[in-house]
Amino acid sequence: MKMMNVCMLMKTEISFERDFESQVKKYFIEICRCLPKELREHLNKNRMFAVTKESNNNMEELKKCIATTVKSQSHWGENVPISWTKLESVFNKIKKDKIFNFSDLLRLVQSTKELSIENEEDLKTALTFFHETGVILFRSETEKIILDVQWFVDAFKCIILDEIHWDTIDENNCDLFEQLTEHGLLSSELLDELWKKHNINEHKDSLIYHMKQLDMLAELSKVKWYVPCMNKQKYDEKYLDNCNVSSRLCFLFEYLPFFVYHRLIAACINTLKMEPWETAGKKHIFHTVTILSCKDWTHRMLIGICDNKGRTDKEYPYSIEIQANVTKPDEIDTKLTSNYCRRIFEILDELTRPFFFGESSFRVGYRCKFGPFGGNQEGQIIKEEEMSGSKIKCNKCPSVHQEDVGLIRRFWEVITVTHFKKFYSKIPLKQK
Ligand SMILES: [Zn+2]
Repeated sequence: MKMMNVCMLMKTEISFERDFESQVKKYFIEICRCLPKELREHLNKNRMFAVTKESNNNMEELKKCIATTVKSQSHWGENVPISWTKLESVFNKIKKDKIFNFSDLLRLVQSTKELSIENEEDLKTALTFFHETGVILFRSETEKIILDVQWFVDAFKCIILDEIHWDTIDENNCDLFEQLTEHGLLSSELLDELWKKHNINEHKDSLIYHMKQLDMLAELSKVKWYVPCMNKQKYDEKYLDNCNVSSRLCFLFEYLPFFVYHRLIAACINTLKMEPWETAGKKHIFHTVTILSCKDWTHRMLIGICDNKGRTDKEYPYSIEIQANVTKPDEIDTKLTSNYCRRIFEILDELTRPFFFGESSFRVGYRCKFGPFGGNQEGQIIKEEEMSGSKIKCNKCPSVHQEDVGLIRRFWEVITVTHFKKFYSKIPLKQK
């Protein structure tokens, strides 16, 4: 989704027009300074309008600017077959059903001549378009189509909103609620109770299916799901005391919506079939750190999110970092970690592409020091392009030190050697 490039400010009680204008400009500059450079291109002082409470001052100009901005968006004027727009009006008629079967819709469409959608393939193409534009939720591999997206969103709100919880919580289910609100673990039993009032339990399977597809939650078993945005647990590096750990690969962002991290964790469980690591009956999933077991049951991958503001390198204040670990005396299989890394890279690339306009949504780097993950405390981040030669002299840390490039990189060999070549070749030269 593209951003609406308009800045609107509200006048309160400023007497002089000139003072007001300069205050508006000051405020505009303040906004610019809060944003990373990459986002500033969406602001322009020519699209800045000072509006006054209960006055039409500048409103016409503001409306014109919004209209021009919308028309300049890339999808504006895109050719949508007329039959598809008619199909959308069919959705509106049957929307009261919230969920509709694909086969029923196909029958309905085929019996409506003016739609000119004749076969299954044509209908799937049209539905895919409406899914991608956010009108409905559709996947070709499932029969159920969600026609009312707001209803779907409301169903998820039942899971994550405190006020809805308070309506349902009682002496019998308070432990299940504690699991959800503290650890993000949602049981089928509790979900039934949360959705009972809203009469949506009959659609439970379809709703859960689409929530999984969108990585809003991850399936741990047929009766338990992990809802990452509900997890409040704090990580402690003592969990890795008896482990051999890899170096830390960092995906670097200028800005990073937190839910990207949640969706990455859900996708690793849903797609890569990784499972939360469990010791002493406790799952190692925390608010900003998650340790997932790989399919070989020997290796584990720690995935953490770090806020690096205030560190030496201010260019990329946010990072998602991965670090493999195994129980001593096992050694880390670098082929396996490289393979997981490539797949995590691909998921992250797909998840972040909608929020970034250039070719690259993130850069890659490494922590300069080895050691169990401890947030943003250990070492500094060295970017991939700075890792030339066999040794790297790190002068970003308070005490200068030298590290072996091969030792840092060997866990992520596949990604550095093959995937990045392909990836970086897409980036315009000036950004390299
Ligand atoms: Zn260093």
